Amino acid sequence: MKPFDYYEPTSIGEACSLLGELGPAASLLAGGTDLVVRMKRGVSEPVGVINLKTIPGSNEIALEGGNVRIGALTRLADLAVSPLIRAKLPALALGADSVGTPQIRNLATLGGNLCNASPCADTAPALLVSEASLQISGRQGTRQESIASFFLAPGKTTLSAGEIVTAIIVPVPSLLTVQTFIKLGPRKSGDISVVNTAVSLSFDGGRCARARIALGSVAPTPLRARETEAWIEGQEASSIDAAEAGRRAAEEVRPISDLRGSQEYRKEMVSVLTERALSSLLQKL
Ligand SMILES: Cc1cc2nc3c(=O)[nH]c(=O)nc-3n(C[C@H](O)[C@H](O)[C@H](O)COP(=O)(O)OP(=O)(O)OC[C@H]3O[C@@H](n4cnc5c(N)ncnc54)[C@H](O)[C@@H]3O)c2cc1C
Repeated sequence: MKPFDYYEPTSIGEACSLLGELGPAASLLAGGTDLVVRMKRGVSEPVGVINLKTIPGSNEIALEGGNVRIGALTRLADLAVSPLIRAKLPALALGADSVGTPQIRNLATLGGNLCNASPCADTAPALLVSEASLQISGRQGTRQESIASFFLAPGKTTLSAGEIVTAIIVPVPSLLTVQTFIKLGPRKSGDISVVNTAVSLSFDGGRCARARIALGSVAPTPLRARETEAWIEGQEASSIDAAEAGRRAAEEVRPISDLRGSQEYRKEMVSVLTERALSSLLQKL
Protein backbone atom coordinates (compact mmCIF):
# COMPACT_ATOMS: atom_id res chain seq x y z
CA MET A 1 0.00 0.00 0.00
CA LYS A 2 1.32 3.45 -0.94
CA PRO A 3 1.89 5.92 1.95
CA PHE A 4 -0.89 8.48 2.48
CA ASP A 5 -1.79 11.35 4.80
CA TYR A 6 -4.54 10.56 7.30
CA TYR A 7 -7.15 13.01 8.62
CA GLU A 8 -9.70 12.82 11.44
CA PRO A 9 -12.19 15.68 10.99
CA THR A 10 -14.62 16.38 13.83
CA SER A 11 -17.40 17.96 11.74
CA ILE A 12 -18.97 17.55 8.29
CA GLY A 13 -17.89 21.12 7.49
CA GLU A 14 -14.26 20.26 8.25
CA ALA A 15 -14.48 17.05 6.19
CA CYS A 16 -15.93 18.99 3.21
CA SER A 17 -13.14 21.60 3.47
CA LEU A 18 -10.49 18.87 3.56
CA LEU A 19 -12.06 17.21 0.50
CA GLY A 20 -12.05 20.57 -1.28
CA GLU A 21 -8.38 21.23 -0.43
CA LEU A 22 -7.13 17.73 -1.31
CA GLY A 23 -9.33 17.28 -4.41
CA PRO A 24 -9.75 13.93 -6.21
CA ALA A 25 -6.47 12.65 -4.72
CA ALA A 26 -8.31 12.11 -1.40
CA SER A 27 -10.67 9.29 -0.37
CA LEU A 28 -13.34 9.21 2.30
CA LEU A 29 -13.03 6.35 4.77
CA ALA A 30 -16.05 4.93 6.59
CA GLY A 31 -15.72 1.28 7.67
CA GLY A 32 -12.98 0.71 5.11
CA THR A 33 -14.23 -2.75 4.07
CA ASP A 34 -14.32 -1.72 0.41
CA LEU A 35 -11.78 1.11 0.37
CA VAL A 36 -8.98 -0.65 2.25
CA VAL A 37 -9.36 -3.76 0.07
CA ARG A 38 -9.01 -1.53 -3.03
CA MET A 39 -5.98 0.23 -1.51
CA LYS A 40 -4.29 -3.07 -0.68
CA ARG A 41 -4.82 -4.24 -4.26
CA GLY A 42 -3.42 -0.96 -5.60
CA VAL A 43 -6.72 -0.16 -7.34
CA SER A 44 -7.10 3.00 -5.19
CA GLU A 45 -4.02 5.02 -4.29
CA PRO A 46 -5.27 8.10 -2.41
CA VAL A 47 -2.71 10.61 -1.19
CA GLY A 48 -5.06 11.54 1.66
CA VAL A 49 -7.60 9.46 3.60
CA ILE A 50 -10.34 11.32 5.49
CA ASN A 51 -11.91 9.22 8.26
CA LEU A 52 -15.61 10.10 8.67
CA LYS A 53 -16.12 7.90 11.73
CA THR A 54 -14.52 10.56 13.94
CA ILE A 55 -17.44 12.96 13.32
CA PRO A 56 -19.65 12.95 16.44
CA GLY A 57 -23.30 11.97 15.90
CA SER A 58 -22.73 10.60 12.39
CA ASN A 59 -23.93 7.12 13.42
CA GLU A 60 -27.24 7.93 15.11
CA ILE A 61 -30.61 6.35 14.29
CA ALA A 62 -33.66 8.48 15.21
CA LEU A 63 -37.36 8.83 14.54
CA GLU A 64 -37.96 12.39 13.29
CA GLY A 65 -41.57 13.19 12.50
CA GLY A 66 -42.71 10.63 9.96
CA ASN A 67 -39.17 9.58 9.00
CA VAL A 68 -36.39 7.42 10.33
CA ARG A 69 -33.08 9.30 10.05
CA ILE A 70 -30.05 7.03 9.86
CA GLY A 71 -26.60 8.61 10.13
CA ALA A 72 -24.47 7.53 7.16
CA LEU A 73 -21.78 6.20 9.51
CA THR A 74 -24.18 3.77 11.20
CA ARG A 75 -22.60 0.33 11.24
CA LEU A 76 -24.55 -2.48 9.57
CA ALA A 77 -24.28 -4.52 12.79
CA ASP A 78 -26.09 -1.73 14.69
CA LEU A 79 -28.72 -1.36 11.97
CA ALA A 80 -29.48 -5.07 12.02
CA VAL A 81 -30.28 -5.11 15.76
CA SER A 82 -31.85 -1.65 16.13
CA PRO A 83 -35.36 -2.10 17.63
CA LEU A 84 -36.57 0.94 15.63
CA ILE A 85 -35.28 -0.42 12.30
CA ARG A 86 -36.56 -3.94 13.00
CA ALA A 87 -40.02 -2.61 13.87
CA LYS A 88 -40.44 0.05 11.17
CA LEU A 89 -38.12 -1.06 8.34
CA PRO A 90 -37.67 -4.84 8.71
CA ALA A 91 -36.37 -5.32 5.14
CA LEU A 92 -33.47 -2.97 5.91
CA ALA A 93 -32.63 -4.84 9.13
CA LEU A 94 -32.57 -8.12 7.18
CA GLY A 95 -30.51 -6.60 4.35
CA ALA A 96 -27.93 -5.19 6.78
CA ASP A 97 -27.76 -8.50 8.63
CA SER A 98 -27.04 -10.38 5.39
CA VAL A 99 -23.86 -8.44 4.52
CA GLY A 100 -20.62 -10.43 4.75
CA THR A 101 -19.70 -11.79 8.16
CA PRO A 102 -20.04 -10.40 11.72
CA GLN A 103 -16.51 -8.95 11.41
CA ILE A 104 -17.48 -7.09 8.21
CA ARG A 105 -20.80 -5.85 9.67
CA ASN A 106 -18.98 -4.53 12.75
CA LEU A 107 -16.96 -2.20 10.51
CA ALA A 108 -19.09 -1.58 7.41
CA THR A 109 -21.46 1.38 7.36
CA LEU A 110 -24.74 2.07 5.58
CA GLY A 111 -23.28 5.11 3.79
CA GLY A 112 -20.29 3.06 2.61
CA ASN A 113 -22.51 0.27 1.29
CA LEU A 114 -24.48 2.81 -0.79
CA CYS A 115 -21.57 5.02 -1.94
CA ASN A 116 -19.61 1.98 -3.08
CA ALA A 117 -22.48 1.59 -5.59
CA SER A 118 -22.14 -2.13 -6.16
CA PRO A 119 -25.10 -3.61 -8.11
CA CYS A 120 -25.26 -6.27 -5.36
CA ALA A 121 -25.19 -3.95 -2.31
CA ASP A 122 -27.48 -5.70 0.16
CA THR A 123 -28.97 -2.59 1.78
CA ALA A 124 -30.00 -0.92 -1.48
CA PRO A 125 -33.16 -2.96 -2.30
CA ALA A 126 -34.69 -2.27 1.12
CA LEU A 127 -34.08 1.46 0.76
CA LEU A 128 -35.53 1.43 -2.76
CA VAL A 129 -38.78 -0.22 -1.62
CA SER A 130 -39.00 2.28 1.24
CA GLU A 131 -38.42 5.22 -1.12
CA ALA A 132 -35.55 6.56 0.98
CA SER A 133 -33.54 9.64 0.18
CA LEU A 134 -29.97 10.64 0.92
CA GLN A 135 -28.86 13.80 2.68
CA ILE A 136 -25.72 15.06 1.01
CA SER A 137 -23.34 17.85 2.11
CA GLY A 138 -20.79 19.63 0.01
CA ARG A 139 -19.04 22.97 -0.14
CA GLN A 140 -22.08 24.34 -2.01
CA GLY A 141 -24.42 23.43 0.91
CA THR A 142 -26.72 20.46 1.42
CA ARG A 143 -29.09 18.65 -0.90
CA GLN A 144 -31.44 15.67 -0.70
CA GLU A 145 -31.57 13.01 -3.42
CA SER A 146 -33.90 10.07 -3.90
CA ILE A 147 -32.21 6.67 -3.70
CA ALA A 148 -34.01 5.86 -6.98
CA SER A 149 -31.79 8.28 -8.91
CA PHE A 150 -28.58 7.97 -6.82
CA PHE A 151 -26.98 4.97 -8.57
CA LEU A 152 -25.69 5.58 -12.11
CA ALA A 153 -23.52 2.52 -12.91
CA PRO A 154 -21.35 0.00 -11.04
CA GLY A 155 -19.15 2.07 -8.70
CA LYS A 156 -20.74 5.34 -9.88
CA THR A 157 -23.28 7.58 -8.14
CA THR A 158 -24.52 11.14 -8.62
CA LEU A 159 -22.11 12.36 -5.87
CA SER A 160 -19.93 15.12 -7.23
CA ALA A 161 -16.36 15.77 -6.13
CA GLY A 162 -16.33 17.08 -2.59
CA GLU A 163 -19.76 15.69 -1.58
CA ILE A 164 -20.40 13.50 1.46
CA VAL A 165 -23.53 11.48 2.29
CA THR A 166 -24.44 12.46 5.84
CA ALA A 167 -27.72 10.60 6.43
CA ILE A 168 -30.35 8.35 4.93
CA ILE A 169 -33.94 9.49 5.42
CA VAL A 170 -36.61 6.80 5.25
CA PRO A 171 -40.34 7.57 5.44
CA VAL A 172 -42.18 5.35 7.93
CA PRO A 173 -45.05 3.60 6.11
CA SER A 174 -48.41 4.87 7.39
CA LEU A 175 -50.71 2.12 6.06
CA LEU A 176 -50.60 -1.54 7.13
CA THR A 177 -47.26 -2.49 5.59
CA VAL A 178 -45.34 -5.76 5.47
CA GLN A 179 -41.75 -6.02 4.23
CA THR A 180 -39.07 -8.60 3.71
CA PHE A 181 -35.62 -9.11 2.14
CA ILE A 182 -34.18 -12.32 0.71
CA LYS A 183 -30.62 -12.88 -0.48
CA LEU A 184 -29.30 -15.73 -2.57
CA GLY A 185 -25.57 -16.33 -2.28
CA PRO A 186 -23.39 -19.36 -3.01
CA ARG A 187 -23.06 -20.00 0.75
CA LYS A 188 -25.35 -19.20 3.68
CA SER A 189 -23.20 -16.29 4.84
CA GLY A 190 -20.10 -14.34 3.89
CA ASP A 191 -20.89 -14.18 0.18
CA ILE A 192 -21.85 -11.44 -2.25
CA SER A 193 -25.42 -11.80 -3.57
CA VAL A 194 -26.12 -13.71 -6.76
CA VAL A 195 -29.57 -12.10 -6.56
CA ASN A 196 -31.21 -10.17 -3.74
CA THR A 197 -34.71 -8.78 -3.40
CA ALA A 198 -36.74 -6.61 -1.06
CA VAL A 199 -40.53 -6.49 -1.21
CA SER A 200 -42.86 -4.09 0.58
CA LEU A 201 -46.66 -4.30 0.39
CA SER A 202 -49.04 -1.73 1.88
CA PHE A 203 -52.75 -2.47 2.26
CA ASP A 204 -55.78 -0.23 2.56
CA GLY A 205 -59.07 -2.00 3.33
CA GLY A 206 -57.86 -5.38 2.04
CA ARG A 207 -56.52 -4.07 -1.28
CA CYS A 208 -52.86 -3.57 -2.06
CA ALA A 209 -52.47 0.20 -2.24
CA ARG A 210 -48.70 0.18 -2.76
CA ALA A 211 -46.42 -2.60 -3.96
CA ARG A 212 -42.66 -2.17 -4.14
CA ILE A 213 -40.22 -4.79 -5.42
CA ALA A 214 -36.50 -4.05 -5.68
CA LEU A 215 -33.80 -6.34 -7.01
CA GLY A 216 -30.00 -6.39 -6.83
CA SER A 217 -27.24 -8.14 -8.82
CA VAL A 218 -29.46 -8.26 -11.90
CA ALA A 219 -28.58 -4.99 -13.69
CA PRO A 220 -25.80 -2.36 -13.57
CA THR A 221 -27.60 -0.76 -10.61
CA PRO A 222 -30.16 -2.04 -8.10
CA LEU A 223 -33.60 -1.55 -9.66
CA ARG A 224 -37.34 -1.64 -9.05
CA ALA A 225 -39.68 -4.00 -10.92
CA ARG A 226 -42.13 -1.20 -11.64
CA GLU A 227 -44.41 -3.06 -14.07
CA THR A 228 -44.86 -5.93 -11.64
CA GLU A 229 -45.56 -3.45 -8.83
CA ALA A 230 -48.28 -1.79 -10.94
CA TRP A 231 -49.77 -5.22 -11.78
CA ILE A 232 -50.05 -6.06 -8.04
CA GLU A 233 -51.48 -2.71 -6.94
CA GLY A 234 -55.28 -2.61 -6.64
CA GLN A 235 -55.57 -6.39 -6.15
CA GLU A 236 -57.13 -7.98 -3.06
CA ALA A 237 -54.47 -9.72 -0.94
CA SER A 238 -56.23 -13.07 -1.51
CA SER A 239 -56.06 -12.76 -5.29
CA ILE A 240 -52.37 -11.82 -5.70
CA ASP A 241 -50.67 -14.63 -7.65
CA ALA A 242 -47.13 -14.64 -6.24
CA ALA A 243 -45.82 -17.05 -8.92
CA GLU A 244 -47.14 -14.86 -11.74
CA ALA A 245 -45.60 -11.79 -10.07
CA GLY A 246 -42.26 -13.66 -9.95
CA ARG A 247 -42.45 -14.47 -13.68
CA ARG A 248 -43.25 -10.83 -14.46
CA ALA A 249 -40.38 -9.51 -12.30
CA ALA A 250 -37.94 -11.79 -14.17
CA GLU A 251 -38.93 -10.03 -17.40
CA GLU A 252 -37.87 -6.68 -15.96
CA VAL A 253 -34.23 -7.48 -15.13
CA ARG A 254 -31.09 -7.36 -17.29
CA PRO A 255 -28.51 -9.59 -15.54
CA ILE A 256 -25.08 -10.48 -16.84
CA SER A 257 -23.34 -13.86 -16.64
CA ASP A 258 -20.31 -13.96 -14.35
CA LEU A 259 -18.49 -16.43 -12.12
CA ARG A 260 -21.31 -16.32 -9.55
CA GLY A 261 -24.13 -17.18 -11.96
CA SER A 262 -25.33 -17.11 -15.54
CA GLN A 263 -27.82 -14.63 -16.93
CA GLU A 264 -30.46 -17.38 -17.25
CA TYR A 265 -29.92 -18.63 -13.68
CA ARG A 266 -30.22 -15.10 -12.29
CA LYS A 267 -33.48 -14.49 -14.17
CA GLU A 268 -34.89 -17.76 -12.85
CA MET A 269 -33.79 -16.83 -9.33
CA VAL A 270 -35.49 -13.43 -9.60
CA SER A 271 -38.71 -15.30 -10.29
CA VAL A 272 -38.16 -17.73 -7.39
CA LEU A 273 -37.08 -15.10 -4.84
CA THR A 274 -39.87 -12.66 -5.75
CA GLU A 275 -42.48 -15.40 -5.46
CA ARG A 276 -41.01 -16.56 -2.15
CA ALA A 277 -40.90 -13.04 -0.71
CA LEU A 278 -44.47 -12.24 -1.78
CA SER A 279 -45.84 -15.55 -0.49
CA SER A 280 -44.20 -15.08 2.90
CA LEU A 281 -45.64 -11.55 3.21
CA LEU A 282 -49.15 -12.58 2.11
CA GLN A 283 -49.13 -15.33 4.76
CA LYS A 284 -48.43 -12.72 7.45
CA LEU A 285 -51.65 -10.77 6.73
C1 LIG B 1 -15.17 -10.18 2.94
C2 LIG B 1 -16.16 -9.17 2.46
C3 LIG B 1 -17.50 -9.55 2.32
C4 LIG B 1 -18.45 -8.62 1.86
N1 LIG B 1 -19.75 -9.04 1.74
C5 LIG B 1 -20.68 -8.15 1.31
C6 LIG B 1 -22.05 -8.55 1.20
O1 LIG B 1 -22.43 -9.71 1.47
N2 LIG B 1 -22.96 -7.61 0.79
C7 LIG B 1 -22.59 -6.34 0.48
O2 LIG B 1 -23.46 -5.54 0.12
N3 LIG B 1 -21.30 -5.93 0.57
C8 LIG B 1 -20.35 -6.80 0.99
N4 LIG B 1 -19.04 -6.40 1.08
C9 LIG B 1 -18.66 -5.04 0.69
C10 LIG B 1 -18.59 -4.01 1.87
O3 LIG B 1 -18.39 -4.64 3.10
C11 LIG B 1 -19.85 -3.14 1.94
O4 LIG B 1 -20.06 -2.48 0.70
C12 LIG B 1 -19.75 -2.11 3.07
O5 LIG B 1 -21.05 -1.75 3.45
C13 LIG B 1 -18.98 -0.86 2.72
O6 LIG B 1 -19.08 0.04 3.80
P1 LIG B 1 -17.79 0.71 4.46
O7 LIG B 1 -18.28 1.60 5.54
O8 LIG B 1 -16.80 -0.32 4.86
O9 LIG B 1 -17.26 1.55 3.21
P2 LIG B 1 -15.78 2.10 2.87
O10 LIG B 1 -14.94 0.98 2.37
O11 LIG B 1 -15.24 2.92 3.99
O12 LIG B 1 -16.18 3.06 1.67
C14 LIG B 1 -16.71 2.55 0.45
C15 LIG B 1 -16.72 3.69 -0.60
O13 LIG B 1 -17.71 4.66 -0.28
C16 LIG B 1 -17.12 5.94 -0.02
N5 LIG B 1 -17.85 6.46 1.14
C17 LIG B 1 -18.03 5.85 2.33
N6 LIG B 1 -18.83 6.57 3.13
C18 LIG B 1 -19.17 7.67 2.41
C19 LIG B 1 -20.01 8.79 2.69
N7 LIG B 1 -20.66 8.91 3.87
N8 LIG B 1 -20.16 9.74 1.75
C20 LIG B 1 -19.52 9.62 0.54
N9 LIG B 1 -18.72 8.58 0.22
C21 LIG B 1 -18.55 7.61 1.14
C22 LIG B 1 -15.65 5.68 0.25
O14 LIG B 1 -14.85 6.79 -0.12
C23 LIG B 1 -15.40 4.47 -0.65
O15 LIG B 1 -15.20 4.88 -1.98
C24 LIG B 1 -18.05 -7.30 1.54
C25 LIG B 1 -16.71 -6.91 1.69
C26 LIG B 1 -15.77 -7.83 2.14
C27 LIG B 1 -14.35 -7.39 2.29
